[in-house]
Amino acid sequence: MIIDTHAHLDVEDFADDLDETVIRAREVGVGKIFLPGIDLKSVSTVLAVCRRYPDICYPMIGLQPEEVRDDYREVLAAMHSHLLSSISQSKAGTAEPGTTFIAIGEVGLDFYWSRDYERQQLVAFEEAVRWSVETQLPLMIHCRKAQNEMLHIMRPYEKELPGGVFHCFTGNQKEAEAFLRFERFALGIGGVSTFKSSHLREDLPAAVPLNRIVLETDSPYMAPVPHRGKRNESSFIIEVMRTLAMSYGIEEEEIARQTNLNVERIFGISAGGHL
Ligand SMILES: [Zn+2]
Repeated sequence: MIIDTHAHLDVEDFADDLDETVIRAREVGVGKIFLPGIDLKSVSTVLAVCRRYPDICYPMIGLQPEEVRDDYREVLAAMHSHLLSSISQSKAGTAEPGTTFIAIGEVGLDFYWSRDYERQQLVAFEEAVRWSVETQLPLMIHCRKAQNEMLHIMRPYEKELPGGVFHCFTGNQKEAEAFLRFERFALGIGGVSTFKSSHLREDLPAAVPLNRIVLETDSPYMAPVPHRGKRNESSFIIEVMRTLAMSYGIEEEEIARQTNLNVERIFGISAGGHL
């Protein structure tokens, strides 16, 4: 069994063949798929997919940094109340299957294309960090061209944070080490690791122990070789698993086993079921 910790199965790209996409994932051994939220609309679309496949798909909630706009305070307030009601329904045992949020995400900072909303992104990310402390749900973090700012925001909360994932890690050894100083966090490794130009195949075994990695696809984006450039989907995660097995010099089963343990530790969800 393999767990895809990051897949946007709720987007338009899957509207025509979602059932087949999930079936193909199951066929290669993907037992669980975690769906990140990005904005307010995605709260509904993510939950709709997770309701449809409650034993496979698990929802997250958060404001993705590239979606931060002038109305971000209203958006955050609405998300926060969704989050709290999900938790109270889950505690009361009245939650519909597939509707209990398992993490805060994806949230973070992204200054790659623009810094127009830099200040708002910083405020929104710190708010998400506080939700994680408040609810003790892990963080699913998206960070591009903002590592220092991100770690600076997280540092004061380090002891209280339950853990999480630095999703779509593509950095070097030094960057990996800076992330891993947050002891309860892991790096999300996806399709980029299979790209010819990527240094991850050397850098990961050199700097990142296997108990600090989780697998992800970031579907429909970031398709691994040999599907590069096409729509990505959860079944392609086996290419990432193969690549890591080769670069760490161990069996694929061992990659699956260890990354599942990491998911279980961080999200409280095992490959076989919810803990
Ligand atoms: Zn994503």
